[in-house]
Amino acid sequence: MLVAGTATECYGARDLAMATRATIPKKELQELRERLVAERGDLKGQYDELEESSFAANQSELTGEMGFDEEYADAGTNTFEREKDLSLVNNLRDLMDRIDKALAKMDDGSYGLCDRCGKPIEKLRLKALPYANLCIKDKQAEERVR
Ligand SMILES: [Zn+2]
Repeated sequence: MLVAGTATECYGARDLAMATRATIPKKELQELRERLVAERGDLKGQYDELEESSFAANQSELTGEMGFDEEYADAGTNTFEREKDLSLVNNLRDLMDRIDKALAKMDDGSYGLCDRCGKPIEKLRLKALPYANLCIKDKQAEERVR
């Protein structure tokens, strides 16, 4: 009985520590982690592809395949295409960054907590957006400010 009592005390301390963290069951956390890792791999693939194609575009420019006039006429479209690629690349980078942060938070146990108010983020929200870092209320507040 004495041993059991000690054990209970032990668990009590741990429960207290757990209470300040998000209460996401391990199994669900594992599922979310897998989704994040898979999505990150997907984004990385898109990212590499874009990097490669913009690299290829720069290369053909360097070799001077086009005559001056042609190049001049195409300059507008090329710039537009490059800017579109650039914002896509930035978007992908931003998303990968958010996923990395979510994965890091899973490792240190703070995953699922709102960055702003520290309260657990709504479960449905995490399921829809596993890398969400704000609860619905704070996300809405942030959008109102913008
Ligand atoms: Zn919040």
